[in-house]
Amino acid sequence: MLKAKLITNLREGRIPHAQFFLGPRGSGGLPMALAYAQYLLCAEPGPADPCGSCPSCQQMEKLGHPDVHFAFPIFLNDRNRTCTPVLPDWRDLVMREPYLDAALWRDRQEGENKQLRMGVDIAAEITRQLSLKAYAGGWRVMLVWLPELMDAPAANKLLKVLEEPEPRTVFLLVGHDADAILPTIISRTQLVKVPALAEADLVRTLRSRFDDLPEPDAQAAALRSAGDLLEATALVEKGEEELFILFRDWLRACYALKAQDVVEFAEHFHKMGRERQKGLVRYGLYLVRLSMLIWQRAGELVRTTGEELKFVTDVSHLLTARNIAGLREELEVAHQHLERNANPKVLFMDLSYRMHGLLKQR
Ligand SMILES: [Zn+2]
Repeated sequence: MLKAKLITNLREGRIPHAQFFLGPRGSGGLPMALAYAQYLLCAEPGPADPCGSCPSCQQMEKLGHPDVHFAFPIFLNDRNRTCTPVLPDWRDLVMREPYLDAALWRDRQEGENKQLRMGVDIAAEITRQLSLKAYAGGWRVMLVWLPELMDAPAANKLLKVLEEPEPRTVFLLVGHDADAILPTIISRTQLVKVPALAEADLVRTLRSRFDDLPEPDAQAAALRSAGDLLEATALVEKGEEELFILFRDWLRACYALKAQDVVEFAEHFHKMGRERQKGLVRYGLYLVRLSMLIWQRAGELVRTTGEELKFVTDVSHLLTARNIAGLREELEVAHQHLERNANPKVLFMDLSYRMHGLLKQR
């Protein structure tokens, strides 16, 4: 709705000199501002969306349009006081997580001084970039991310630029905390209030981010995160990490076949609930498939890292031409049985012994 309204304004030639996209964390102010910039610069925009294929759109997809400049907070230090040197990192992060917040960006950077700020040198950088002629001869965009983290001298410098608008130049400010910004800056911008994501949108986005994420899990994460996509994504990732640890430790117990451990796992799984049990088995299947790729010397297709990669590599050493199909089949059958309401404790006990037999079949 909001996007449609922005685009209608734009099509009707109402292009404010400066807009402030204000919304809570994880609500998508940044992707919205970027979409706005893309539409503004698109050579052949459609009624509701940019074309997506003109040179300008292609440059925007990579956040590399020469007439779109970015300013954002950094770790100010003696070596670096401007955005340009860290722009590739920031761009890379935005492409991976357009809903990013200051914490994600902070984690991404190295430095002793872990405080993100925009100092006066960044304000000077903004002025300098706007003193250049537009590369494509059309609109220029200056996107300022998290203006609330500007020092007072920087904010005053930005205010001067906003007070003397240049022709065909659009400022897009994107932030979460209007109270931390000079009121005079706010008064120079048109406020665009970005609401938290609606539950249905959040569920849809989560399911597009995570293959195989069951609807109830997506809904639970959406509800718990109150419209914050970053939070919801973290919840799903945490849930997946827990599943990973469970599956890994369970498979190790199967291999060693310590009776007590196997019983304890089966009891724990029993209490998890049907959806999560199915999620565990699906996740296990995914891991086994990765192990198979490594075993088949197609490891370049394995897109995982860290503990997960270590585990699937370990498992690949246990695979043989004799057990490989069986391992997969056992998990597939277990999933089917869970769907048909089999008793989970019995099922997992049984499965543990079968997995043991297969893993030891050298
Ligand atoms: Zn286009």
